[in-house]
Amino acid sequence: MTTSRTVLVTGGNRGIGFAIASEFIAQGHRVAVTARSGEGPEGSLTVRADVTDAASVDAAFTEIEAALGPVEVVVANAGITRDTLLLRMSEDEFTSVIDTNLTGAFRVVKRASKGMLKARFGRIVLISSVVGLYGSAGQVNYSASKAGLVGMARSLTRELGARNITANVVAPGFIETDMTDALPEAQQAEYRKSIPLARFATPDEVAKVVAWVAGDDAGYISGAVIPVDGGLGMGH
Ligand code: NDP
Repeated sequence: MTTSRTVLVTGGNRGIGFAIASEFIAQGHRVAVTARSGEGPEGSLTVRADVTDAASVDAAFTEIEAALGPVEVVVANAGITRDTLLLRMSEDEFTSVIDTNLTGAFRVVKRASKGMLKARFGRIVLISSVVGLYGSAGQVNYSASKAGLVGMARSLTRELGARNITANVVAPGFIETDMTDALPEAQQAEYRKSIPLARFATPDEVAKVVAWVAGDDAGYISGAVIPVDGGLGMGH
């Protein structure tokens, strides 16, 4: 039996975030999601927030804390892509991806850490990507943002570990969501060929790993990068 926690998942209205929120609900936790649009799964509390705006993140936490108590588990999942080749990539395409994926996670984790430090308990999970360490042509912005999350989790581990706060990275490979649906069919087929398990994963297969690493059985794991990528990134 796992301890029931207050959990916040950013970007919980669709894709991987929705699946993560659903999994925590299924395991009996109190779950809030942030969303800019739409709603989280049934049984979750949906709060509007944009991770590029610290005031909006702060307001979301205040609302969640009032309704469900201090956030004990935070999953920084919200993310975007703005893919293009380096020579065509504008500075705005670079910085907007960093601002959402990396600085966004910083804003969320910083706000969450206040309550976690007070409680002397916390579980931080950052949703990175296989391309953070593998690299990806056309994703200089995205892969840099996702690699940054690894340094962030490891620094958080060194800074907050003694207060019983863990920070881990889950690095999905190709998962069936709107993000990968947007890729041309030929590119999807090409990717599938390079994955040892020869298929994309479902969001659920990521969600179960996230819930496990945030759960009671994984309390001594911190600073880890856990791949959920069908073997694509082996050797990192
Ligand atoms: P989707 O594009 O389906 O969903 C992205 C989510 O992020 C949405 O909930 C979206 O909210 C939210 N979001 C984006 N920008 C912001 C913002 N500024 N503030 C708040 N929320 C925001 O993506 P996936 O579910 O596929 O991806 C989820 C995470 O997993 C991302 O971090 C992604 O990089 C990572 N990932 C995905 C992989 C895949 O194959 N799909 C592989 C590896 C990693 P809204 O609907 O309101 O825009």
